[in-house]
Amino acid sequence: MPSFVITEKCDGCKAGDKTACQYICPHDLMILNRDTMKAYNQEPEQCWECFNCVKICPQQAVEVRGYSDFVPLGSQTIPLRGSDNIMWTIKFRSGLTKRFKFPIRTTVEGSVDPYAGKPEPDFATIKKPGFFNTPARTE
Ligand code: SF4
Ligand code: SF4
Repeated sequence: MPSFVITEKCDGCKAGDKTACQYICPHDLMILNRDTMKAYNQEPEQCWECFNCVKICPQQAVEVRGYSDFVPLGSQTIPLRGSDNIMWTIKFRSGLTKRFKFPIRTTVEGSVDPYAGKPEPDFATIKKPGFFNTPARTE
């Protein structure tokens, strides 16, 4: 089931240039209605259900619900990000709640060096098979 925004919780990321969910969505699906200051998924059928918007939202205002064939309807999956971990709260329809805590990457936002010691890609060779960072063969 694609992501959806719980409008009562969304604060529009306090009117920043770009909301957190807009920033993180790999498919550019999240958009902010500047009249209501509420975000929404503008093309739900394109959603990959990757949970990125769910995890980044500071208001816990985005949900992605699992399909009813493997997650009973009425259940919820709620992440809470800490500085070095993420806590997942799983609420089952029966009322049972389970929590799982996992470490997360702590790289400072915007500090990632995508090439990190590897050569930058040569776009003249983009149609050739192979990876741009494969070391040249020496034999
Ligand atoms: S990240 Fe959350 S609070 Fe911010 S605009 Fe998106 S849904 Fe609203
Ligand atoms: S679940 Fe992933 S693909 Fe879907 S709206 Fe959120 S960030 Fe985008």
